[in-house]
Amino acid sequence: MEGCLFCKIAGGAIKADVVYQDDRVVSFRDINPQAPVHLLIIPREHISTISDLQEQHRELVGHIFLVAGKLADQFGIAREGYRVVANCREAAGQTVFHAHFHLLGGRQFGWPPG
Ligand code: 5GP
Ligand code: ZN
Repeated sequence: MEGCLFCKIAGGAIKADVVYQDDRVVSFRDINPQAPVHLLIIPREHISTISDLQEQHRELVGHIFLVAGKLADQFGIAREGYRVVANCREAAGQTVFHAHFHLLGGRQFGWPPG
């Protein structure tokens, strides 16, 4: 989608520290990390929020979680534990309107989130 930051990152028009990519998703380091490991996993397809996911995205969402698990292993946070977060729309703090999943690890997290 034109003007979308994460579409530009997925397409390579804007640089990011990409750690994984395949035909459906791209993962890269968050520019403002909130934990020692803070990756974003995005679909290549432009979907504005997780509320816009449709039946056709069922397999994609499963794929994203499998990629998250593999990256957690690869980045050494799987054993101690990690968090996968998707902020949906303003009240949850979504700032980039291309759906994405944060993979966070390497420190202790509180609950409930603020
Ligand atoms: P949200 O607040 O929408 O859930 O998450 C958006 C995330 O994207 C934020 O954690 C923010 O730091 C990250 N971000 C925003 N702009 C860029 C960028 O240009 N490059 C990278 N790598 N991350 C970005
Ligand atoms: Zn986009």
